[in-house]
Amino acid sequence: MFLITPDYYVDFKCKASACTDNCCIGWEIDIDEYSDAVYSSVEGEFGEFLNDHIDRNTDVPFFKLDKNERCSFLDENNLCRIITNMGEDYLCDICHMHPRFCNYFGEFKTMGVGLCCEEAARIIIENDEITSFEINKIDEESDEDCDKDTFENTTNIFNELTDYLRYCNPDFMSIQEVLDEIAISAEAVQYYYSKQDYKECKHILYNPVGSDIFENHTFPDFVEFLKTLEIMDNKWSVTLNSITEKLDTLNKEETAFDKAYPENNIIYANIAIYFIFRYLFNAVHNGDIYSPIVFTVFAVKTIKFCDILTFVKNGRSICVEERIENAKLFSKEIEYSTENVEAIYNWLA
Ligand code: SF4
Repeated sequence: MFLITPDYYVDFKCKASACTDNCCIGWEIDIDEYSDAVYSSVEGEFGEFLNDHIDRNTDVPFFKLDKNERCSFLDENNLCRIITNMGEDYLCDICHMHPRFCNYFGEFKTMGVGLCCEEAARIIIENDEITSFEINKIDEESDEDCDKDTFENTTNIFNELTDYLRYCNPDFMSIQEVLDEIAISAEAVQYYYSKQDYKECKHILYNPVGSDIFENHTFPDFVEFLKTLEIMDNKWSVTLNSITEKLDTLNKEETAFDKAYPENNIIYANIAIYFIFRYLFNAVHNGDIYSPIVFTVFAVKTIKFCDILTFVKNGRSICVEERIENAKLFSKEIEYSTENVEAIYNWLA
């Protein structure tokens, strides 16, 4: 089969103990059946420790967290005891994959790294070129069913969207304006996508028609809606409240922000491409191309407004680490909760 990855994928390497965050803190990791069977058979002192720290009282077993919400297998140096005692091959599926994500479409597999991880976020944010994609043949079989034509046509729409972001002239139109146009065309793109008229989908993208999504779905309303979703970190609710309180100032400061950081165009284009790549192809399975497009536009705008908030708080400056923090916060709170993404899709419908 063929593997499609963003060009930065090969550069990703987990920072392990050097990470300021740690994805092994605060999450109860589910263990797949195969790994659980292997863990049950481990003997000796480590086998005892291993099995004492797995909760098997639920449908799906998971690694217990300690009183500080750390995975029980995280040692004092923030290294995973399963790796240090048994080797990387013994990680369960989720730990082995994270923060990578993958999706199967017949003979194609898409794979990337999630924005919730600080190293992945750094690679995406520090990329000074618009993301491109690589296709490589891999030695893997898939039994996932997929209509070849639908995949090919969805890929064409994906390429059109990324090219639109790649070739837009910032002197003529900012990335935010391009994204807004894309959101406005989303309803019509969905209409023609459902009719399998892909030629018209492409035409619509460059000639947006239809009702203005922003009339009924304003950004301030979106922020209000985000406040109603399940919130994991108090930092997120503080950020959302500050955006609401300072919205007028943030709107006014957007131009100064873009002027101070001309690289914004590439940064937000790459964040948009990350979301489009991750979510758009699901349309091949469920026929919904509208939701991932408008979700991308609102997600990028939210992350940008978190950045403008930081820019204003700092007296008109922001560093890469702060941008990473903001992108990570959005990703953890929204993207990594299927319920939250679904709720947003429904809100945007
Ligand atoms: S957040 Fe990323 S870099 Fe940090 S430990 Fe997790 S995977 Fe590694």
